[in-house]
Amino acid sequence: MKASQFFISTLKEAPADAEVVSHRLMMRAGMIKKFGAGIYTYMPMGLRVIQKVERIIREEMNAAGAVELTMPVIQPAELWQETGRFDKMGPELLRIKDRHERDFVVQPTSEEVVTDIARQELRSYKQLPKNFYQIQTKFRDERRPRFGLMRGREFIMKDAYSFDRDRESAQLSYQTMAQAYRRIFDRFGLRYRAVAADSGAIGGDLSEEFQVIAATGEDAIVYCPTSDYAANIEKAEALAPQGPRPAPGQPMTKTPTPGKSTCAQVAELLGVPLATTVKSIVLATDVLDEQGAVAQTRIWLLLLRGDHDMNEVKVGKLPGLAQGFRFATEAEIVEHFGCKPGYLGPVGTRKPVTVVADREVAVMADWICGANEADFHLTGVNWGRDLPEPALVADLRNVVAGDPSPDGKGVLAIERGIEVGHVFYLGTKYSRAMNATFLDEDGKPKLFEMGCYGIGVTRLPAAAIEQNHDERGIIWPDAIAPFTVVICPIGMDRSEAVAQAAEQLHRDLLALGVDVILDDRGERPGAMFADWELIGVPHRITIGDKGLKEGVVEYQHRRDSAATRVAVGEVLALLK
Ligand code: ATP
Ligand code: MG
Ligand code: MG
Ligand code: MG
Repeated sequence: MKASQFFISTLKEAPADAEVVSHRLMMRAGMIKKFGAGIYTYMPMGLRVIQKVERIIREEMNAAGAVELTMPVIQPAELWQETGRFDKMGPELLRIKDRHERDFVVQPTSEEVVTDIARQELRSYKQLPKNFYQIQTKFRDERRPRFGLMRGREFIMKDAYSFDRDRESAQLSYQTMAQAYRRIFDRFGLRYRAVAADSGAIGGDLSEEFQVIAATGEDAIVYCPTSDYAANIEKAEALAPQGPRPAPGQPMTKTPTPGKSTCAQVAELLGVPLATTVKSIVLATDVLDEQGAVAQTRIWLLLLRGDHDMNEVKVGKLPGLAQGFRFATEAEIVEHFGCKPGYLGPVGTRKPVTVVADREVAVMADWICGANEADFHLTGVNWGRDLPEPALVADLRNVVAGDPSPDGKGVLAIERGIEVGHVFYLGTKYSRAMNATFLDEDGKPKLFEMGCYGIGVTRLPAAAIEQNHDERGIIWPDAIAPFTVVICPIGMDRSEAVAQAAEQLHRDLLALGVDVILDDRGERPGAMFADWELIGVPHRITIGDKGLKEGVVEYQHRRDSAATRVAVGEVLALLK
C-alpha cells in the first residue's frame, strides 16, 4: 500500500468530548469519525484494524468447528415476543415500525433469530452439536454511550450460539468456546484475564468474561496472583463473606451498619419495593447550627442496585430519613463535585440518575453507598487520591484487595478491566421459550441445550489502545496493527537512490506477505514520523541518502527510544 493512495487524516487535537485516551487517539489517528452519540464511521485506517480482529476471530472460530452465517440486523418483533424480551428489555432495545406499522427490533444480540433457525433446520440429534456465529452490526441504545468505540450504540460484535442435545455435551461446547477464546485473545497480543462471571439464574460456573487489563476499564476484576482464581467483582461479591470486616489498608474504609441497610430504609421511605429502588440518588443533608439555620449542606451518594425511573421517587417522604435530607439540586451537585453540568444527569427530573464518581469527587469524604441488600451498604467511604478515570461504583464493594482468596491459595488483588468477550452457558432458556426441539435418538422431541459467546469486535481496538499507548500515540500489537511496517523515505522526491530503495523494499515486503505501507506523500520527516507514531504502526524503516551510501537503513520499533542501523540486505530477514 502507498500512503498517497490510502486515506490518512490525522489531527493535532482530539475533540473535547473524547474523555479517554483510546477515544482521543482513535479520533486523532483518523480511525473513526463520529456521526451521533455512539455512532461512528470506521474510517479506512480504523477499518483495517477491525478487519484484522475479525480475521483472527474467524480463523479460530472456524478451527473450533463453528459455522458462519449472517442474521438480519432488523428482526421481526414476533420472535422477540415469543421470549418476552420485546416487552421485558428496557430502552436499550431499539424498536422500530415499518410502513405497515409492524414492529421490528434492531438486533442487540440474536438469540431469538438463531433459535428460530435451529428449530427449523436442526431436526435430528444427528445434526448436533452445532455452533452458528456471525460478525455483525449490533445496536444497543446505551444509556451512556461514550468513550468512542468502547461503548457505542452501533457496534460490531461476533456472536456465536451453540446447540446441543444434552447438558453434558452443551458443557463441552462451552469449554470448546472458552478454549477458542483463549487462543483468540492470545493472538491479539494483549494482556487479558478470563474471569468467572455471574451466570444468572442458571447457576453453575459456566460464564466467563474476557477482560483486557487497563486502568481505565469500567469493570473491576478480582484475582489471586498465586492461584488460578479470577472473577469479576459481581461474582466475587456473591461469594464473599458478609458482615463487618476490617479494611486492610485500602484507600476506602467501610463499615456495614448492623440492622437495616440504608437502602432498605430509603426504600421504605420512598414507598418503593427494595427490588426496584433507585439505582443511584444523590441526596443532600443540611447540617443545622444551634439556631436551626443551615450551616452546611453535605452531599451524600446512595448507590443502589436495580433499575429505576426517577419519577417513582417521592421526594416529599425523604426528610424522615435523617434530619434535613432532601434531594440536592443539580447546581449544588455541580458545585460540590466541581463537575460539568449534566455530567451526573439531572437530579429530581424524570431522567434516571447515574452517578459516576470521577477524579473530582475524590476530594469528598465519608460517602454512604448502599447496595440493594439488607446489611450491605457502606458508610464512611472515602476515595483514594489517585483514582483511575473513571472510577465506578464497582469499587464500593464488600471485597477488597488483601482478602483471602476463596480457594485458600493466597490473597486477592483487584485490577480494572474492559470486557471484550463473554462466554455463557444458557441451558434451555431460549429453546424452552420458543419451543425449539429436535428429535433425539429415542424418537422423542427434546429442547436444545444452548450457549452464547460474544466478542466486542469494535470495542477490542479501543481496549488495545487503553493498554498500549504513550504520549506520542498508539502502539499496536503486530496482530491488529493497521499496517505492521511503515517505510519512511527521507527526501524521496530529491533522491533517486532513496526512491528506488524504498520502492524495492516495499515490493519485497509485499511479496513476503508483510502488511507494509510506503509513505510516499513527501511529508517532512518530523511530520511523517509524528503521523506514524500517532497511528501506532509497530515497525518503521527509515531510508535516507546518507545511510544508503553506507549500505544501511534505520529500523525502529514503536516502543524503541532510538533507531538501530540495519544493513540493507538484512532488512527483510528482520521484518519477515
Ligand atoms: P457491558 O457490560 O460492557 O455493557 P455486556 O455484558 O452488556 O457489555 P454482552 O451482552 O456480554 O455485553 O455482549 C458481548 C460483548 O459485546 C461484550 O463482551 C462487549 O465486548 C461487547 N459490547 C457490549 N456492549 C457494547 C457496546 N455498547 N459497544 C461496544 N461493544 C459492546
Ligand atoms: Mg451492556
Ligand atoms: Mg457486562
Ligand atoms: Mg457481558
